[in-house]
Amino acid sequence: MILRLCASASLALAGPAAARLAEPRAEQVQAEAPGSTLRDSDYRIGRIVYRLGSAARAHCPDRFPLTGLLFHHLAEYRPADRAEAIRRYGLDSGPGILAVIPDSPAARSGLAAGDVLVSVNGRPFPAPASVGAEEQSKRWRLRVEAPEILLEEQLRLGPVRLEVRRDGRSFPLTLESVPGCPARGRLARSGQANAFADGRYAIMTTRFLRFFRSDDELAVALAHELAHNILRHPQQLEAQGVPNGILRHIGRNARLVRATEEEADRLSVRLLWSAGYDLAAIIPFWRRLYARPDSQLQIISAHPSLRMRERIINEVLAELAPQPRPS
Ligand SMILES: [Zn+2]
Repeated sequence: MILRLCASASLALAGPAAARLAEPRAEQVQAEAPGSTLRDSDYRIGRIVYRLGSAARAHCPDRFPLTGLLFHHLAEYRPADRAEAIRRYGLDSGPGILAVIPDSPAARSGLAAGDVLVSVNGRPFPAPASVGAEEQSKRWRLRVEAPEILLEEQLRLGPVRLEVRRDGRSFPLTLESVPGCPARGRLARSGQANAFADGRYAIMTTRFLRFFRSDDELAVALAHELAHNILRHPQQLEAQGVPNGILRHIGRNARLVRATEEEADRLSVRLLWSAGYDLAAIIPFWRRLYARPDSQLQIISAHPSLRMRERIINEVLAELAPQPRPS
């Protein structure tokens, strides 16, 4: 798929018009008032990604510290909405907590939606106000994510001491993590129906979210994108010189991309199996996706055929069948 964010691995639903998805401001998610659909959707994705990431740790030699925190950042709001985001959420002080996954380390620590993180182990989080000025989308995204990267680095060393701001006062709090797969997910507001992996995040567009009939189906797509990130496919393809754009779907490039697709399919089934999702949802999901009128999966040679996908999925399910499934 053509996405200018970086070398992305993608479900490839929409055509080249999807290139505009990752323009600097177009993918910003405007977090809305509590209870709104968008916030609920963010939370839905966060919950599934956390469940997949924590259950599937056996498949990830590089352990990742999972907390169950979902963030929002000042720069993710449209410039016109930032004053309101500061007034309502205090996001000029640091990254805000959009939601906390129940029964996670974050929930056990006492963190709550609406909190703002000021510092970790005495180190202040990068100033949010300067992030909005960044123009290049890739650099912009990295700067938005800088507080999360700092938190992850510190959590790899052990439990962290946070300074938290809530209702106008600050207090310290200890946050632990659980080891899992590098599972980060987020929603991008876009009229393009697509999901993709950017090397760090499994990203689902608001438009594509409408396609899913259940959390089990949504988990299939998110597990596929997480698998790309766990296997470092975007970085691998970039190192192999595979470009975005039309050349991605031709010759050697298409073969390399197709190999990553098949690997991601294999690992995604294992992730879904480990996390207890309905395995009977996998193949019907892919059939429905390939049958969409706007799907280009049938004609893009960089993607496996539906028959090949079904063969791979059935092979992995047969390998897993004799093993006791984690409860
Ligand atoms: Zn893929």
